[in-house]
Amino acid sequence: MPLSKRLSAIAQLVIPGAGVADIGTDHAYLPIYLVEHGVATHAIAGEVNQGPYLAAQETIQRASLQSSISLRLGNGLAVLQPGEVETIVIAGMGATTMTDILNACPAVVQAAKRLVVQPMIGAALMRQWLAKHRWAICAEELIIEDDILYEIIAAEPGEMPAMNPLLYEIGPVLWRQKHPLLEYHITQIIKQYTRIAENLKLSKTTEAAERCRQLVKKIEELEEWRTCL
Ligand code: SAM
Repeated sequence: MPLSKRLSAIAQLVIPGAGVADIGTDHAYLPIYLVEHGVATHAIAGEVNQGPYLAAQETIQRASLQSSISLRLGNGLAVLQPGEVETIVIAGMGATTMTDILNACPAVVQAAKRLVVQPMIGAALMRQWLAKHRWAICAEELIIEDDILYEIIAAEPGEMPAMNPLLYEIGPVLWRQKHPLLEYHITQIIKQYTRIAENLKLSKTTEAAERCRQLVKKIEELEEWRTCL
């Protein structure tokens, strides 16, 4: 089964030759691909909602992979024992949901060797969470699929080096490696912040004015960084 460009990029960041967990697996496309292609020795597919769980069950059965993919119904990392897998993937959710999932099961998170996350929104929050919880970003990828830009982040246990706060927004590895989509990525962040700032200008509260001032400063900084590319 061909994987989407986004899921293929995620698959490339999984530690090969070991177990992987895909939390919020939906149709279980990622674990099926990883096991079928010999990237993962075995997989755990976690899903909290009945509908996607049943869809995953059907796809796994159709692929005859019940013996190498353990499908588990449950909330976030509660479906895992500490150390059961080397890589934990959480993809296709907002960063707030992802950090809630990670915060809920610290023992499972601490026993993992790599986290691969693909937040739909809030990548900066995700990077801040990683740094705060001693996960060092080791790889980052940008993918455009159906006109949507996706950010994928892989991290391993370790201290993140001190860095300019703007790099939480941009991505330290993306910046260091001058990713081909970096300019487009920064432009997208600027557009998003500009939209928020415009909305804040409509509100007359002091808090909104202060938030707007901070955003405008950030937009100016991002524009300056973009000119360095
Ligand atoms: N991970 C897949 C991907 O990236 O293509 C599916 C993404 S889908 C948009 C999000 C999935 O995560 C849904 O199937 C949803 O039911 C599941 N989900 C949301 N919160 C969850 C949680 N706390 N624990 C497990 N699964 C969750």
